[in-house]
Amino acid sequence: MLVEILQKKYNKTLKECSNEEIYFGLLDMTKDMAEKKYKKDTKKKIYYISAEFLIGKLLSNNLINLGIYDEIKEELEQNGKSIAEVENIELEPSLGNGGLGRLAACFLDSIASLGLNGDGIGLNYHFGLFRQVFKDCLQKETINPWITDESWLIKRDKSYTVNFKDFTVKSKLYDIAVTGYDNRTNWLHLFDIETVDESIVKEGISFEKADIEKNLTLFLYPDDSDEKGELLRIYQQYFMVSNAAQMILEECILKGSNLHDLYEFAVIQINDTHPTMVIPELIRLLMERGIEMDEAIDIVSKTCAYTNHTILSEALEKWPIKYLNKVVPHLLPIIEVLDKKVREKFEDPTVTIIDEQERVHMAHIDIHYGFSVNGVAALHTEILKQNELNNFYKIYPEKFNNKTNGITFRRWLMHCNYPLTAYLTDLIGDGFKKDANQLEKLLDYKEDTNVLNTLLDIKYDNKKALKEYLFKTQGIEIDENSIFDIQIKRLHEYKRQQMNALYIIHKYLEIKNGKKPATPITLIFGAKAAPAYIIAKDIIHLILCLQELINSDKEVNPYLKVVMVENYNVTLAEKLIPACDISEQISLASKEASGTGNMKFMLNGAITLGTMDGANVEIAELVGKDNIYIFGESSEEVISHYENRDYVSKDYYNKDEEIRQMVDFIVSDTLMNIGKKENLERLFNELINKDWFMTLLDIKEYIQKKEEIIADYEDREKWSKMMLENISKAGFFSSDRTILEYNQDIWNV
Ligand SMILES: *Cc1c(COP(=O)(O)O)cnc(C)c1O
Repeated sequence: MLVEILQKKYNKTLKECSNEEIYFGLLDMTKDMAEKKYKKDTKKKIYYISAEFLIGKLLSNNLINLGIYDEIKEELEQNGKSIAEVENIELEPSLGNGGLGRLAACFLDSIASLGLNGDGIGLNYHFGLFRQVFKDCLQKETINPWITDESWLIKRDKSYTVNFKDFTVKSKLYDIAVTGYDNRTNWLHLFDIETVDESIVKEGISFEKADIEKNLTLFLYPDDSDEKGELLRIYQQYFMVSNAAQMILEECILKGSNLHDLYEFAVIQINDTHPTMVIPELIRLLMERGIEMDEAIDIVSKTCAYTNHTILSEALEKWPIKYLNKVVPHLLPIIEVLDKKVREKFEDPTVTIIDEQERVHMAHIDIHYGFSVNGVAALHTEILKQNELNNFYKIYPEKFNNKTNGITFRRWLMHCNYPLTAYLTDLIGDGFKKDANQLEKLLDYKEDTNVLNTLLDIKYDNKKALKEYLFKTQGIEIDENSIFDIQIKRLHEYKRQQMNALYIIHKYLEIKNGKKPATPITLIFGAKAAPAYIIAKDIIHLILCLQELINSDKEVNPYLKVVMVENYNVTLAEKLIPACDISEQISLASKEASGTGNMKFMLNGAITLGTMDGANVEIAELVGKDNIYIFGESSEEVISHYENRDYVSKDYYNKDEEIRQMVDFIVSDTLMNIGKKENLERLFNELINKDWFMTLLDIKEYIQKKEEIIADYEDREKWSKMMLENISKAGFFSSDRTILEYNQDIWNV
């Protein structure tokens, strides 16, 4: 079929076509096949609204889900082409920041793969998240265009009118097909406007934030460190949910809903607080259609469910009334009624919607006026119930539930780790591709030396493949015979990349003093920092300075190498994860809601070095303490430090010679000669005077545990057994399991 498409499109044979032509041929073919798998809506449908969908490249995944990946791969090979090279042509849509957006993408894959009727709704950001480049050991941000003339986007002739205070816009809709594994096609609906003007972007990613009609869908999360930025965020959010609400009502009416029974036709999952305005917007639209306010509120409350993703207070959105009044004044009378009803019912001042500083707490709207509130890992949900949202839990215990996150095994095993997938299929059959728990069959082979050695061989080959990829794409050289220790995730103080950086300093000083590791260690980082997050950018600066220092020191570089990959994204994650030995999951206990990177690594046979945080807790329970390396204070201890305000980083610094040595090194002449005084001093001062995320609290135990895991790497048999245990027990973290739970407990479609 591909051959005919290429013949028609380019009048060439497969052999004669360039990789680019083959890519566009496959794009046409795949889109066509996907469209054919679309099925009519069922009575009740899931609408997953999210400001982010970090979908990654789509070609291979779609080929896998359509069941033609092997066939196409072979056909290309027979004609002297390589699927990997064709895949390189595709640009990655960067419509998400990190875990939250990637989760939404995994969920869409699982919803379709389980044959459920459910669409995603979001925005079509032209430049998405910024592209990261390093210059002078600093992060610089540039635009990341990903939309080409021919792409996965399908333009629909659907349009809605969205009214803001001062002007009105007409939306246009683009769809991306989401084809399940051997199952139906659903849609990811991305809304956009005609008037967006890409040329207003000046240097880097700066642009005129006030010109909404030109910038509305230019960027994901534009810098919101000033008022104009915050207003733009509100414009984006309202634009997204107003389109969503209009579309949902239209579809439900078409299926026969009289709107009084809306919740029998639709369930709306609100992914974090960004889509919260869908609640007042739906109430408003129902009232416009003649439904009394009290009933409208009741209908919407039975339709919407909320997922909480974080307990970090700065991430819980609170919009000033005065901003909402500038953008969507028509929602305020509704929000005020919602607040009034809460005040009539409850005396507790912490559960109101509007606070005394005249700010609207978006999460509070979701909790009072949604029927379900879920956390994303067992520990996270417990912390919500007992601490962060305890006052709400006391009011609505029945609304709270846990849905431990998951990842799609189609992308994070079958696509990214073809050799392991093929081997597992040989060994235990291909049942695990639809029923992830069947990975446990691998446990039958835990004493089989042949199997254990093959797992090591596959890992080695993946490390070699990563080496080649990084050399080709970023000019970075690494040694496949070293230990690959990887920390890839957004840069945030709570994730504690700075703790890993202090370990590097420790190791560097040790080697300088003549103590050399048995096997060389390669520490790999990948992380973008939010453009306005100063300390996060300083941490990147520190890591890049250490990279330069160590990699040019002939005494040290045979034993230690530091690599920070540029522009970490899904594509890079797919190369890095299968090659990883040690998975760094070292967040401050209680702060990482779940993590999903931890699951991807485990599934690909990396061993976790982590704290008892997020889903690490569940990983530890599943694999047992012999197959994971846990350190650090517990979430209870950490929470009590915050409550009692008794963590003083300066004390740790003053009392411990070793800690002092590592921290002082940040501002040593050695590093200052490479880096910038301002950045390094600021980071140094932050660590000893504030250290809000308690790096120094766990640093000693971290170093100790890390030395232990590195020493254990030498015992190849022990290591491969741990790999096997981790892969075998990863089935629980399939997003198919997560979605089945959402459907059983929340959606009921
Ligand atoms: C999975 C993933 C994340 C989330 O990683 P965490 O370690 O859970 O924070 C972020 N970015 C990308 C590109 C991912 O694939």
